[in-house]
Amino acid sequence: MKIGLEVHVALPTKSKLFCSCSTDPAEPNTAICPICMGFPGSKPMLNKAAVESALGIANSLHCAISKDISFVRKVYFYPDLPKSYQITQMEGSIGIGGYLAIGEKKVRIRRVQIEEDPAQIIREGALTLIDFNRSGTPLVEIVTEPDISSEEEMRSFIGSLRSILYYLGVDINKEIKADVNISLAETRVEVKNVTGIKNMIETLRFEIERQTEAIRNGEEIARETRGYNEKARSTQTLREKETDEEYGYIFESDLTLFRTEDLKCNRPVYANEVAMELANGTDVSPKTVSEIIMLDSYSLGQINRLRGRHELRSIIHGIERYKKYGSMERVPDSVLDNIVLLIEGGKEVSKESIQDLEAGKEVKVEYSELPEGQLEKLIDRYLAENPDLVREYARQPKTINLIIENIARPNGLHPKEVARKLMPILNRIAEVK
Ligand SMILES: [Zn+2]
Repeated sequence: MKIGLEVHVALPTKSKLFCSCSTDPAEPNTAICPICMGFPGSKPMLNKAAVESALGIANSLHCAISKDISFVRKVYFYPDLPKSYQITQMEGSIGIGGYLAIGEKKVRIRRVQIEEDPAQIIREGALTLIDFNRSGTPLVEIVTEPDISSEEEMRSFIGSLRSILYYLGVDINKEIKADVNISLAETRVEVKNVTGIKNMIETLRFEIERQTEAIRNGEEIARETRGYNEKARSTQTLREKETDEEYGYIFESDLTLFRTEDLKCNRPVYANEVAMELANGTDVSPKTVSEIIMLDSYSLGQINRLRGRHELRSIIHGIERYKKYGSMERVPDSVLDNIVLLIEGGKEVSKESIQDLEAGKEVKVEYSELPEGQLEKLIDRYLAENPDLVREYARQPKTINLIIENIARPNGLHPKEVARKLMPILNRIAEVK
């Protein structure tokens, strides 16, 4: 099976790609002007900030950067596009031929191109409404080679991409949108505009089943463009696949060649480094961090928000517990915060306690306090009874967390208090041995 993606990401600029209209308007059809409405005689002006932002993405995906970038008009007729063409890139795309590593595997990137978003079509019963506020907002399209070969790999790709975007300052709370190309046999089927990883996976599962069935029945799979129907959880034929010729690409002569040499460029962000940087100085392995991030990159923002208050290890443990027992797809910050408090307090995080937290109950972790000198005695006794762990600690310092947990939890003690007293004792014993 071969899967290729065309991922659309909104660039974080204040104004649109070719005019100075706001990208964040309040009321429909208020942030519009002759340029983004495509009135005759209007001329586009390229937004430098959008190009710089796209450059950061292309660099982080190991792309070769075009010295001069150019734009083309992709011609098609649809109500969301009053000037009847979309300004996008082809040969002169900003980034060409890169890759994104997911674990051991490299998914090749064909190109990273800048383009404008068309207007938004809103269907309300029999009415079709058009909001032109979105016309001309800057997007980047990341086109992969068909290197992805499973659901897990697709998930990892999107997760890694989103962690890069997060560090580049691109809003990852908005769902990612992608065209998913799937071929089981020779013919490529494209499913357009799928929003969010959950729907992308549903799309993939549906298409695998549909195409497998067709192949089994000896039917020919049509080369076509399909759409994903969220309610029916299935894909439907939209149209026969267009070829590039049908789009009638022509050079956008209203925009001159644009030099990328002098652009400001932030340090690129590489997927494997994101996890490594987070795990640095902790006893959590980068692999564990990257697994959590790839599963749902939303966790990345969450980890960063909660890190000032909690240990990385506890946050990750908390996310894992919630994935197991929680009722929502994503754990709200406040619930996670409380789960982590329980974990750090050495308390069991059960299904019931998560349900309580989701119902809005507050967590109170009460710790026992031992009389002066008692904690040291407890520690001495535990270490004497567990010489294996002391030896293990001399070899592998992160074993200390297990020791802390084993002492704090059954005795209802504050882990930080245990750690404070344990550290000097443990170091002394480990050195003597
Ligand atoms: Zn405008």
